[in-house]
Amino acid sequence: MPSSRRPIVLKFGGASLEDPDRLAREVRDARTEGAPVVVVASAREGVTDLLSESLAHPRSQAVHRRTLEELRRRHPGLPPAGRRQLARTRRLLELVERGGGHDAPLADRLLSQGERLAVHWLSAQLRLHGLPAVPVEADHLGLITDNTYGASLILFDRSRGPVRRGVGRRLARGELPVVTGYFGRSLEGRVATLGRGGSDYAAAALGALLGARRVELVKRHVAVLSADPKEVAAARALPELSYEEAEELAQFGAKVLHPLTIEPARAQSIELRVRSLEDPRVVTTIAPERPGRRNRALTVLRPLRLLRLRVPGGRQRPGIVAEVSQRLASAGVNLVQLYTSSALLCLVLEPPQVLAAIRALAPVTREAAAMVEGPYPVALVIAIGDHILDDLGRLPAGAVAGAEGFSATPRALSLAVPEARARDVLRALHRALVEERGP
Ligand code: ASP
Ligand code: MG
Repeated sequence: MPSSRRPIVLKFGGASLEDPDRLAREVRDARTEGAPVVVVASAREGVTDLLSESLAHPRSQAVHRRTLEELRRRHPGLPPAGRRQLARTRRLLELVERGGGHDAPLADRLLSQGERLAVHWLSAQLRLHGLPAVPVEADHLGLITDNTYGASLILFDRSRGPVRRGVGRRLARGELPVVTGYFGRSLEGRVATLGRGGSDYAAAALGALLGARRVELVKRHVAVLSADPKEVAAARALPELSYEEAEELAQFGAKVLHPLTIEPARAQSIELRVRSLEDPRVVTTIAPERPGRRNRALTVLRPLRLLRLRVPGGRQRPGIVAEVSQRLASAGVNLVQLYTSSALLCLVLEPPQVLAAIRALAPVTREAAAMVEGPYPVALVIAIGDHILDDLGRLPAGAVAGAEGFSATPRALSLAVPEARARDVLRALHRALVEERGP
């Protein structure tokens, strides 16, 4: 695509859909740059929750009726194609009722209805503002995923042709495609969702498939901050992040980004912008690392449990680390973090998995005469930023004292601290790494 024709992808989050007038202005502003615009929309706020609630009560006609009423109420003025989506939702709910439950593909079919209704509704609203909006459902478009219903991955090579042709044709007609986020079509030809919050991932993927000029993730209130403002009053907006920093942040649980969002953009150096409608000054640009920039963000993961596994002569037992993690993996235990020294392995786990972990480790304790101590309630305080190891000297001694574990890569460092101290440590690190660094 010639660079002037590279589109701008605008993804509107569920809460931002509240104000279609405002969204029409956003689209117009983007169009003044001269690039074609592609909109990606989430379901309206709370709609996916309603649909999952209905799945959780498969036989409750009352719950299903309420869901349908709510869907109708939240999508006023639907054109005929949109009303057909309402009828389809009703039929899917009846299918769930009759079966008294659902398998993963049926769940995904129902869950996808939120985005379908959203694009029919939003397109109609944007047309009222004189924009040539047309709803596009991503499964029909040919956004192809694997068959992992509920958490599927987009298959780029398979999707590229159909997505470029489908979107290209509409853009060539001067239309404004309004594409569903959150789901695609599996290799078996069924609806497959990308996991909760997956519309960001869908938008980044469409941007990559279309060779977009940039992808903007437009949220109502949320912004990417240096820490959760509920925990750290001095948290501030982050004007930029490298792809790698953003990825670490998303993986370490910052809810503002779906963890798979970054990679498709990074692979093609497509700029991602995360911005808040509420405060237009708050924009985070996610792009290649710029030399000399020091972006720092903090997150905390809790509640967690730490088990200490003491292995006498640990390093003389080749493969002990592999053995421990394999046994945990076979028992379905997710190792959140691992700290090792020569005779000590500290395993950080989610609380409900502690018993399963202890059981899974029984053969190791028998054969290697290892001992398990704990569980200790801990939190992980995580500091993210390229070249974070340059900051070791800034870490306040008081924050690190009494820590149960520490590990670092050049991009993120994690500190396991007793849960009761998590907030103090978080604030102390924020002061040292963000506030004292200056604006
Ligand atoms: N509607 C879906 C959800 O609420 C996807 C999204 O909003 O990104 O999880
Ligand atoms: Mg949503």
